[in-house]
Amino acid sequence: MSIEADAEGMAVHCERTREELAVQALTAGRHGELDGCSTEHLDHCTDCATEQSLFAQVTQVLSSLGPHVFDGIPEPGPRRHRMR
Ligand SMILES: [Zn+2]
Repeated sequence: MSIEADAEGMAVHCERTREELAVQALTAGRHGELDGCSTEHLDHCTDCATEQSLFAQVTQVLSSLGPHVFDGIPEPGPRRHRMR
């Protein structure tokens, strides 16, 4: 019984934790730390721990590129000034 409850709780935590990890990756940690539940979950769940290390790599690559990379990307389509 407790095993089933754990498995169910695990799935909920996985979803939550991965959401947190995605937010962390997208904001490069500016959003704050992972909440306690997610941190604890990562200690027990290898799937999520793997996910975290993948996100960490992505974050590292993005931060090494720097935000100026995105500034240089031209907007799609020709730019037209609309004068009215
Ligand atoms: Zn998990």
